[in-house]
Amino acid sequence: MNEIKLVSRTGGTNTHIQIGRLTVGLDFILIAGPCSVENEIQTLEIARAVQAAGADMLRGGAFKPRTSPYAFQGLGLKGLKILAMAREETGLPIVSEVLDTRDVAWMCDYVDVLQIGARNIQNFPLLKEAGKARKPVLLKRGMHSTLSEWLNCAEYILSEGNPNVILCERGIRTFETYTRNTLDLSAVPAIKELSHLPVIVDPAHGTGRVSLIAPMSLAAVASGADGLIIEVHGDPKMALSDSDQALTPQQFLAVSRKIRSLRLFMESLN
Ligand code: PEP
Ligand code: MN
Repeated sequence: MNEIKLVSRTGGTNTHIQIGRLTVGLDFILIAGPCSVENEIQTLEIARAVQAAGADMLRGGAFKPRTSPYAFQGLGLKGLKILAMAREETGLPIVSEVLDTRDVAWMCDYVDVLQIGARNIQNFPLLKEAGKARKPVLLKRGMHSTLSEWLNCAEYILSEGNPNVILCERGIRTFETYTRNTLDLSAVPAIKELSHLPVIVDPAHGTGRVSLIAPMSLAAVASGADGLIIEVHGDPKMALSDSDQALTPQQFLAVSRKIRSLRLFMESLN
């Protein structure tokens, strides 16, 4: 992978990204929140609940990349304003997906981390625009990306001057249909061999099943991930997107406690 100049691991130094009081790459980060921002009450209630359960950042989609054009597309600017309110109240930094090059610059006023989703991984104009932004970027793995392709996408962002990229393994498409995607946890130690960038795991999109989120969260921690991003909803059955893979706040609290215990145990091994 000689062509990946800026993203490649050259020595022992890892990239650290300061987001508020958190240092991604050094501190383990737990990101949680709804798939979509649906309304103010829903989002604020989830923000309070995930914060109480130990989340470090709030996620929530305002622009949703949906398979069907008739499915809920997100609240757009209104959704970003709701996320800004949640940040104001809780202090949690905000992660939200950007779909369009025209939205990158102004969205930076509302979010702390720009998410680029699996469906946009090789939208090169969008990657370049994110590279010009002065906000950290959460770059999901594409559902059909090899590690080399994924790292090249990160290279686009770094080569435009933005060194603050967090990679996110979110499952790849395989012949298996029981799970929504196949969560490739070998990607975590492999990326750590190949790159200095932090890498987190999304077990919600990675499995598409509530019952698999806790075990795969723990497996992700054991694999050496720098963090997790998990979907949480007050009433998952009623969620406007990804209702099969959202934890309730109570389920999230239980997972968060297990993650904390496993991390303490792993630190004791060092
Ligand atoms: C999401 O985070 O809600 C999302 C759409 O993720 P992905 O791009 O990984 O499918
Ligand atoms: Mn989702």
